[in-house]
Order: sequence, then structure tokens, then C-alpha cells
Amino acid sequence: MAKHAVVIAGGGPTGMMLAAELALAKVDVAIVERRPDHVLVGSRAGGFHSRTIEVLDQRGVADRFLAEGQVAQVAMFGTTVLDMSDFPTRHPYSLGIWQNQIERIMAAWIAELAVRIYYGREVTGFAQGDTGVDVELSDGQSLRAQYLVGCDGGRSVIRKAARIEFPGWDPTRSNLIAEVEMTEEPPRGIRHDATGVHGLHRLEDGRTVRVVVTEQQLGPSSEPTLRDLSEALTAVYGTDFGIHSPTWISRFTDMTRQAAAYRAGRVLLAGDSAHVHYPVGGQGLSLGVQDAVNLGWKLAQVVNGTSPESLLDTYQDERHPVAARALQHTMAQTALQRRDKRIKALVDVVSELASMDEPRKRLAGIISGLDIHYDLGEGHLLLGRRMLDLDLVTADGTLRVFTLLHKAKPVLLNLGEPGGFDISPWADRAQLIDAEYLGPWELPVIGAVTAPTGVLIRPDGYVAWVGDGTDSGLRDALTTWFGTP
Ligand SMILES: Cc1cc2nc3c(=O)[nH]c(=O)nc-3n(C[C@H](O)[C@H](O)[C@H](O)COP(=O)(O)OP(=O)(O)OC[C@H]3O[C@@H](n4cnc5c(N)ncnc54)[C@H](O)[C@@H]3O)c2cc1C
Repeated sequence: MAKHAVVIAGGGPTGMMLAAELALAKVDVAIVERRPDHVLVGSRAGGFHSRTIEVLDQRGVADRFLAEGQVAQVAMFGTTVLDMSDFPTRHPYSLGIWQNQIERIMAAWIAELAVRIYYGREVTGFAQGDTGVDVELSDGQSLRAQYLVGCDGGRSVIRKAARIEFPGWDPTRSNLIAEVEMTEEPPRGIRHDATGVHGLHRLEDGRTVRVVVTEQQLGPSSEPTLRDLSEALTAVYGTDFGIHSPTWISRFTDMTRQAAAYRAGRVLLAGDSAHVHYPVGGQGLSLGVQDAVNLGWKLAQVVNGTSPESLLDTYQDERHPVAARALQHTMAQTALQRRDKRIKALVDVVSELASMDEPRKRLAGIISGLDIHYDLGEGHLLLGRRMLDLDLVTADGTLRVFTLLHKAKPVLLNLGEPGGFDISPWADRAQLIDAEYLGPWELPVIGAVTAPTGVLIRPDGYVAWVGDGTDSGLRDALTTWFGTP
């Protein structure tokens, strides 16, 4: 039986990001992926938001995605575009890039990191004990791991086998999404009516049309057909535009559910396996990638023996509330997509409010992920929030903070007297950088904050300790997050 420290079920965006994080921390990680390769049939998600671009920037790979995508102010609440060009970030925009491109780029990245992938096999179940997990595969083989992470999407086998409850709301509305050819020229753009939202978009090849259409009634859970698509289009547009030659037809719904627990012993969940919602607002992929970045370094430290298993509990403590809030917001936005006259009145009121400065910033902060605040206790406003990508002046020249995070290792930034901190007991785990920064400290949504004299940054880019001229609390923070020396 092959052994790995961590086995990840599912190599979608969440599974690949987690694998990259673990590989950067030198953990022996393997992915089991049902598909025969990383080619994704159909374009699926249309991009990601600012914080996800930052997270990829922290690992030095954002440029790969930026080179293929299109930056735009497309963060929306309902139908109001939330301009975030005034947000203090290097990436004050969203990135339009299809999920099949995202997965191709990620697959190339994890190949560079030498992540082992078992393609063309499914995880069918597992048995966990005190020392590890036996992971059962569809080809009759098993893998042995210290930990198993279910990144296997909304219908997660891992979540079900772990008997983790998935409470929430049943679907009330379904959409068909497809890529087809058409004999007639379709009208472009988005249309709203009393049923929901519909959109037709010609893809870059000039031949294929991406169709998203809300069905008149909630569709069944079976695979949709070309006939279903024809009927749904005709109900909305009066014609099916002569659709033919589909390469992909799928159905998604507004079912909204969240796993009651993100961990059951040695088994964890991340991404869509832990939360599903209607794709309005385009947050699912971003949530999954950020789950992975929160979990990766913690799991690596537990596997590498530097931190106790209890560190894994902070994964659920921090990420469950973030997804719960996203679910609440997607349900609110889903309601705004229906356009009978009464709901149109509500849409108009919400649009007016959302275009005012403070609500705009608040909503854009949530959708972009830039306002995420993990509850790490009382203290400076930076505590538990994302570290800013400042231009630092160091003895080696000018350096961006995010560059220091490329290897996914903790960083203690000393912004006071050079040599002012001693973290030699943690020297094998954390980097100590003496630097100068004289510019403003400004957080999205919150605004200006007082300049600290030191900042302890976790590998995921969140601030674990803030110095105010002394090193009070620093040793506790280092021990809590990076283990006893
Ligand atoms: C129409 C649409 C538009 C969207 N638009 C956006 C958007 O603009 N922005 C955004 O952020 N999100 C968007 N989303 C959501 C996004 O697609 C998902 O949230 C995202 O794919 C979740 O990633 P994941 O890796 O967690 O799960 P998945 O992408 O579902 O990946 C799961 C992987 O696990 C594999 N797998 C499943 N079961 C097993 C098993 N038992 N064993 C082994 N492998 C298995 C699957 O083959 C798959 O590769 C959209 C979704 C839809 C449907």
C-alpha cells in the first residue's frame, strides 16, 4: 500500500492549492483525481476576486493568471457593480479567467512542485484509526495517509463517509449552463425576468456560445439534455437559436449548505465539499482556494511535528464564519436576481444604497475577500487581518512583503531598531527581517491604522502579532502559531 503524509481527494482548484501549500512545506502529499487528466470540460467559473489574486501573489504565481485573464471592476452585489479601484491593494479589481484556464495553470504549478497525482481514480471511502487513514480507491487499491482532506466538491464522498452533517437550504431554482453552437445569431448579454437571470456569451473561438439560462421549474438532479436546454431557452427567448453540437451541459441550483464540522479526526474538508451556494457573485472558487491557504501551513506543521493537532481546530474557527457570511450574501443576491415588479422595487432600493460610499466599500470588502478578519483576540486593527503588501526598505534593497511569503514560511517584520527582536529559538521556522517603511498603513474598508513597530505574519498572510515598541506577547504568539521551540 502506497503511503503519503496527506492524501487529498479531488484535484479541483481547492485540492490543487492545498497540494501546493503542503508541497512548499515539504510535506509528502498526493492528490486522487477522478478525471483522467486536468482538462476541464466546460468553462465553469468565470474568475476570482482581489484577495485570491493577492494569495497567489504571496506565492509568486499571480502573474501566470494575470497574463491569461482580464482585470475588471466586476465585483457585484445584485446588479450593482462595486467599484473598488480606491482599495489599498496592488490588485484593486477582479480577474476574469475561465476555470479551465485556472486549473491548467494550477496543474502546471503543482507539477513543478512535484505533487503526486493519481488520475482516473475515485476515493470511494476510508477507515481512520489513531495513527492514520486508509483511503479506498475505485481501482481496489488503498493509500495510507496521516491525514485525508476532502476537496471533492459539493457532492463530497468524504463528507458523507465522515458522516458530517450538511445543513442548509434545499434548492428552489435551477440553471442550465452549456457550451453549444447556434445556427441563429443570439442576442448578447444578461437578461433578468421573473424567473431569474439568463445570459448568452460568445467565447473566444467565435463559434461556441456559453449559455446560462434559468429553468422555469426546478430541474431534476439527473444529467440535463440538449432538449432540456432547448426548452429552457425557448421559454425565455421564444427560440432556441438552433442550438446544436453541445460540448458541455450542466445544471446548478441555489442549494445553500455548509458542513457542520470541517474536521472529523484525521479527515478534513475544504472548498465546495464544505460549502455550496448559488454562483452569483462568483465567490465559490475564491472561498475554496482561501480555505486551502488557511489549512495548508497548519496541516504541514502538524504533520511535520512542530505544532499540536489542536492547531487544526483554528481552521474551522477561522474559515467557517467566512463561508457562512458568503452563503448569507449569495442568498440575498439570489433573491435580487428575480425581476417581477415587486422585487424590482427592492433591487432599485438596494442598488441605490450599494452605490453610496460606505455600503459600497463594505460589500466590496466582503466579495473581494479583502476585509476578512480572523478573531485572534483584542488588539491592533491589523491583528487577524491580511498583511499589506508594502514596499520595504531592507539592507538588501527594496522588497515587497508578499515576496517574503513565496516559500509559505512565517515572517517577523521588525520595523523598529534593527536587531530589536530575538527569535533564535524559532530560527528554523520563521524568518526575521529588519526593514524600514515610512509610507501610510491603510486597510481596505477600515482606512488608516497606526504604524506598528513589528508584525508577525503567518504563512497565509494574516497578522498574528503586532508590536507597539516592545516585544510583549511575541513569544506567546510564536508558540501558539508555530509551536514550542
Ligand atoms: C456556472 C458557475 C459559475 C461559477 N462562477 C464562479 C466564479 O466566477 N468565481 C468563483 O469563485 N466561483 C465560481 N463558481 C464556483 C466554482 O466553480 C466552485 O466553487 C469551485 O470549482 C470549487 O472548487 P473545488 O476544488 O472545491 O471543487 P470542484 O471544482 O468541484 O473540484 C472537485 C474535484 O474533485 C474531483 N472528485 C470528485 N469526487 C471525487 C472522488 N470521490 N475521488 C476523486 N476525485 C473526486 C472532481 O473531478 C473535481 O476535479 C461557479 C460555479 C458555477 C457552476
